[in-house]
Amino acid sequence: MGEVNPGGMPQGRGQETENLIPGVKDVIAVSSGKGGVGKSTVAANLAVALAQSWGTVGLMDADIYGPNIPMMMGVSKPPEQQDGKLLPAESHGVKIISMGFFMPEETAIVWRGPMVHKAIQQFFGDVLWGELDYLLIDLPPGTGDAQLTLSQLVPLSGAITVTTPQEVALYDVRKGMSMFQKVNVPLLGIIENMSFFVCGHCGERTEIFSHGGGERAAEKLGIPFLGRIPIDPAIRAGGDTGLPIVVANPESRPARAFKDIAAKLAATISTPAGEGQSVPRIESLLKKIKKPISAG
Ligand code: ADP
Repeated sequence: MGEVNPGGMPQGRGQETENLIPGVKDVIAVSSGKGGVGKSTVAANLAVALAQSWGTVGLMDADIYGPNIPMMMGVSKPPEQQDGKLLPAESHGVKIISMGFFMPEETAIVWRGPMVHKAIQQFFGDVLWGELDYLLIDLPPGTGDAQLTLSQLVPLSGAITVTTPQEVALYDVRKGMSMFQKVNVPLLGIIENMSFFVCGHCGERTEIFSHGGGERAAEKLGIPFLGRIPIDPAIRAGGDTGLPIVVANPESRPARAFKDIAAKLAATISTPAGEGQSVPRIESLLKKIKKPISAG
């Protein structure tokens, strides 16, 4: 595809009925109500953990506001072209495409909805993903055109939401959920990031952003709580150096947390909705909410 053409004409919404990625079994959106909660970090580590134990994995970085998956995954070579299409880059066993490959560095991008739509559409139609068990999509934070676009272009297996445990972030989780409700996407679970900090010297545990909010939110909404990830300087260092912690230090506490979440996610997805532990649909879940989620 050469380059993403954000200025291209918007496609007629709702007209794309053809499955653009027939070789991909499960498409999972990784979302967050707001920026900075660690969504991309979680997407990168989960992608690697899934690839290590659960199947073939692709990671699409659709976060136009901060496309930092290439840096976090240590991708040094941009994707190559083959027969007018793009071969995804590959790192740590994961196939990777990112908006970051096509944007000039250090540029603040202000994209309108149709441009986001067009770029994501190209990432499906013009990239040679091949056969994949999982394609994770790192969405821009919040609720916007990317989420809507995704649900129009491909059948999503569901969305996971990353949050920090404090009140203000949990409010955003609920907002994000109602957006997924509008486009009929099942919510696969909540991941609580930056849950607690364990002092490397004395071992004391500090709950910097409060305690257990993600779990309570999941409980109230009746959706799976997939797990909590501690705050750990090694996670940040892994992101900065292109060596996700599940690769850099696979037996560390945070790496084990990511691997446990990957296992739960794989189990959740392999249970088809309607059989046994079905994936609840958001509409029915939101009916259960009588009052806003609170930390108490
Ligand atoms: P988002 O995608 O939600 O904007 P990022 O994944 O880019 O957030 O994370 C923001 C920053 O926080 C990055 O520098 C990342 O390395 C760091 N970070 C994310 N999760 C953790 C964590 N659990 N412990 C320490 N640093 C983290």
